Amino acid sequence: MTDPNCLFCKIAAKQIPSAIVHEDEEMVAFRDIAPQVPVHIVLVPRVHCAGLNDLTADLAPVIGRIALVARDLAGRMGIAASGYRLVANCGPDAGQTVHHLHFHLLGGAPMGGRMA
Ligand code: 5GP
Ligand code: ZN
Repeated sequence: MTDPNCLFCKIAAKQIPSAIVHEDEEMVAFRDIAPQVPVHIVLVPRVHCAGLNDLTADLAPVIGRIALVARDLAGRMGIAASGYRLVANCGPDAGQTVHHLHFHLLGGAPMGGRMA
């Protein structure tokens, strides 16, 4: 369920402090320690899963609810109309550095580029 050596498991369990903006039984959302844009929030399931490559069907409901919470947070943070991205990096080419499945909610400034 959780990995005692995993940074985001420890943040979800509040063993490591973070600026939490939402939490419930299934997920935690907290401000990224090195924000790339004015609003940069990381959303994670409480259950440990290394990343999208390890996603299993039983996690599908929580991933859907993470998307709903991301939408609500975008509203709370005032970026619903200006726009935002919800991004999951998977593997080295995508630059994944923490191996606990997570989604970045990014917004508050034009992001330019066309990565997708
Ligand atoms: P990744 O690069 O794996 O997609 O995203 C990992 C994210 O976690 C990075 O944006 C990084 O800044 C953030 N991060 C790494 N360590 C910590 C930490 O201790 N606390 C918080 N709040 N964010 C962290
Ligand atoms: Zn973990």
